[in-house]
Amino acid sequence: MLSFTVSERKLQSSLSIERYIHTMGVVKAARGLSKRYGADMEKASYAALLHDCAKDYPNDMKLRFCREYHIPVDDIMALNTELIHQFLGAEVAKREYLVEDEDILNAIRFHTTGRPGMSLLEKIIFIADYIEEGRRKFDTLEVSRELAYENIDKAMAFILKNTIEYIKLKDRALHPLSVEAYEFYKCYMEE
Ligand code: FE
Ligand code: FE
Repeated sequence: MLSFTVSERKLQSSLSIERYIHTMGVVKAARGLSKRYGADMEKASYAALLHDCAKDYPNDMKLRFCREYHIPVDDIMALNTELIHQFLGAEVAKREYLVEDEDILNAIRFHTTGRPGMSLLEKIIFIADYIEEGRRKFDTLEVSRELAYENIDKAMAFILKNTIEYIKLKDRALHPLSVEAYEFYKCYMEE
């Protein structure tokens, strides 16, 4: 049995106002995509609500929790601490928000990097995070939004490709999961 009672007060108090607004945008986008692809809307809302739950923790707190929760912090994560919040977020969702559903936890766990062979819910959260209405306009956003409703795997390929290019451009550490995910989804680009 799923219980969808996120403590919204708890969540709000651990997110900045901007992050909370972003989160609400992701919830809305995830619901839209769930409707389009026939995914479980409650699960999608729940995953979206919690996807960034650990993102605004101060860095030292993130690292402390990683130790406590036995989340391995590899060199790439240490270099690019932005990468920590997806893994930590999944653990926080499990331990503090009492989420038991593995699909919801995985949707949180891989929402930034993606991974090969993602579930529908995982893809919905990954894409919703990228296309939500509050995102500042950038070149590939409109195409991503259209693709998201046209063909979800093609949207994955397109977003992963752009994300990887952006990370390289900014000279940030690229997580191998992003590359693996792109390798997995790129065949859909030709469709
Ligand atoms: Fe995030
Ligand atoms: Fe996010």
